[in-house]
Amino acid sequence: MNAHDSERLAGLLDEAGYQRAGDGETPDVVVFNTCAVRENAADRLYGNLGHLLPQKKNGMQIAVGGCLAQMERTRITERAPWVDVVYGTHNMGSLPALLERARVRHEAQAEFAETLETFPSLLPARRQSVYSAWVAISVGCNNTCTFCIVPSLRGKEKDRRPGDILDEIQTLVADGVLEVTLLGQNVNSYGAEFGDRSAFGKLLRGCGEIEGLERVRFTSPHPRDFTDDVIDAMAETPNVMPSLHMPLQSGSDRILKAMRRAYRRNRYLAILDRVRASIPDAAITTDIIVGFPGETEQDFEDTLDLVRRARFAGAFTFRYSIRRGTPAAAMDAQVPADVVQDRYERLTALVEETTYAENQQLSGATVEVLVAEGEGRKDAATHRMSGRARDNRLVHFTPAETAPRPGDVVTVTVTRGAPHYLLSDAAPLSVRRTRAGDAWAAAAAAQRTGPVTAAPPVLLGMPARHPLG
Ligand code: SF4
Repeated sequence: MNAHDSERLAGLLDEAGYQRAGDGETPDVVVFNTCAVRENAADRLYGNLGHLLPQKKNGMQIAVGGCLAQMERTRITERAPWVDVVYGTHNMGSLPALLERARVRHEAQAEFAETLETFPSLLPARRQSVYSAWVAISVGCNNTCTFCIVPSLRGKEKDRRPGDILDEIQTLVADGVLEVTLLGQNVNSYGAEFGDRSAFGKLLRGCGEIEGLERVRFTSPHPRDFTDDVIDAMAETPNVMPSLHMPLQSGSDRILKAMRRAYRRNRYLAILDRVRASIPDAAITTDIIVGFPGETEQDFEDTLDLVRRARFAGAFTFRYSIRRGTPAAAMDAQVPADVVQDRYERLTALVEETTYAENQQLSGATVEVLVAEGEGRKDAATHRMSGRARDNRLVHFTPAETAPRPGDVVTVTVTRGAPHYLLSDAAPLSVRRTRAGDAWAAAAAAQRTGPVTAAPPVLLGMPARHPLG
């Protein structure tokens, strides 16, 4: 969600006449889009702000927004008085005006609204990818998970109208996009605001009607609200991909209750069974927290047991740590750090073993890969390219004599499954050049030529850090 917000911020600033700073250039404006969910987020923000202080004398403006800004509010300008603008999660659209006002008045500007007035999707966007796009369907969350700060910072769930969402997707597809990921804190409660409990399933089916849209994904679903009509819509809509990221958090019913997650392990496992019965090739991934307050060895064993049964294709694993402002922060029986670490290591080892076994089974399989940019860190050294299979598995492949572009679609044979990816070292079976690949090539050519500007632009970015002293 934050990455998509950054696209909106960049789009807003583009429209206001700002321009991205090039490598090595010192920007005139630096915007921090913060996330309070990350560990030590505040320490890292203040550290970064401190590093920027020496550059302020050159007239640089600094703005801080996002969840952490909503949480810290005016504390930010108290601790870092050189910050020019602080804005809340509901005030993203005000950023250009706040920067302008701070410049004219020579004083810090802060703006926080308690409720959302402009849906961020109405703001312009500078998309990071020409072939794949995020599309927000809702913001905020009506749940109250005790470890989570999101509801108090993002507010109650607000749903976009289905027609607006589908219109946005149509426009993206017309620009070359092949893949969209529908975004919401809880996509399965989508429609609650306008009184349609089956709105999400209908939205998936609506995406299925859009010609040229090849891949539809969504994140995040919630086991409490995940209903059979959504499974049916996934199974019956050909462009909805066979992948599901279903956050588990814990395999212990006692801990799920303490987390205020309104489902239990049996319900979770039953959902996976139903998904696999309807979509046999579905790759299911998850999020798991270890060391939640009060978690006993038995609770943790329950999580390990569920992981063994679930056969996840991947899992994001987290060590619980206190997040100020959440109910769990005040709970007794915080688990000692060494115990959390030990459980974390045992869990990640099991997850790795499971995902390795699942990926090894795909050796010899034929997979269709949407070629991506930046997915394979070692691609230059290995002469491979990378992308995502339909089930969202990362695939590194050897292009051999073919020359696919990011956005093109290749079909390859898997030669080996590794714990975190699939490998194809055989020549691709086919390469399909797509509109998305054409759009990528056109964007790359435009970048080489560079924009034509009449006046020196105001540059945006994050300056390189130089050693102090
Ligand atoms: Fe946070 Fe729970 Fe809402 Fe997810 S569902 S955003 S974890 S409160």
